[in-house]
Amino acid sequence: MPWLDALLDRPPLTWWDLLDIAIVSVVVYEVLKLIRGTRASQMAVALGAIVGLFYLSRALELETVNWLIRNVVGYVVFAAIVLLQTDIRRALVHFGRAPFFKYLRRVEADEDSIEELVVALETLAAKHIGALVIVERGIGLRNHIESGIPLDAKLTYDLIVSIFQPTSPLHDGAVIVQGDRIAAAACFLPLSVNPRLARELGSRHRAALGVTEENDAVALVVSEESGAVSLVLDGKIERGLTPDKLRWRLRALIKRTQARPERRIAAATMD
Ligand code: ATP
Ligand code: MG
Repeated sequence: MPWLDALLDRPPLTWWDLLDIAIVSVVVYEVLKLIRGTRASQMAVALGAIVGLFYLSRALELETVNWLIRNVVGYVVFAAIVLLQTDIRRALVHFGRAPFFKYLRRVEADEDSIEELVVALETLAAKHIGALVIVERGIGLRNHIESGIPLDAKLTYDLIVSIFQPTSPLHDGAVIVQGDRIAAAACFLPLSVNPRLARELGSRHRAALGVTEENDAVALVVSEESGAVSLVLDGKIERGLTPDKLRWRLRALIKRTQARPERRIAAATMD
């Protein structure tokens, strides 16, 4: 069996080869993990089938099929990039979140700003005034900030409450917070395309989900309909947060000098 001899007749395996194989395995595993349950996984199956058909057509000498695949495959790759641009962006952002990039993280808020924000959202919720606030963390939100009205103002209770008054020209859209400052208001965000979302989540909640699906920001939503406050992180929504719970979550997620966990809990239950 010459093909078996050819297969076995290889140069000896070195440590470099093992390292090479290990890296490829990790990359393939991570890619599979990322695309599981997304549109990309169906496309990967289709792509796999095309590759399989290509080799089959070559082995069976099906010239026309082989010619067709050879000529079409280049376009398929371009089409896949266009169709999967959101998934590709998400995958790259996910890679950027790996632990060894942690030192790049910046923007954090101090205790006062968190308090101003929590109390402002509480006031808006009590009056059933809808609001959407996105708090930037490690990954920059510049492209979203540019879609709105730039403010670069100190984050205060009064400013947040005024922006979201229904008569305010800035109330429509999202406020984006960077550290202790409001970077912009009336920003337009991408809506989540997750088909499994609850029906009662309208466009404000879907925008909060959409923006956190593609980066590590924290989104806070006050529902105009129910007056409930929700926190959205990584495309997952926690609904109906009490002010204390919200304060505690924000301290854990964006506070400048992180207190030790037990002190954080004590502080949250004290006030
Ligand atoms: P609520 O519970 O407050 O009614 P909802 O999730 O049902 O919220 P809508 O009622 O559709 O959402 O909320 C509409 C408001 O959400 C708009 O007036 C606008 O301010 C905001 N909004 C909608 N889409 C976006 C978007 N893509 N980016 C930013 N803000 C948005
Ligand atoms: Mg609504």
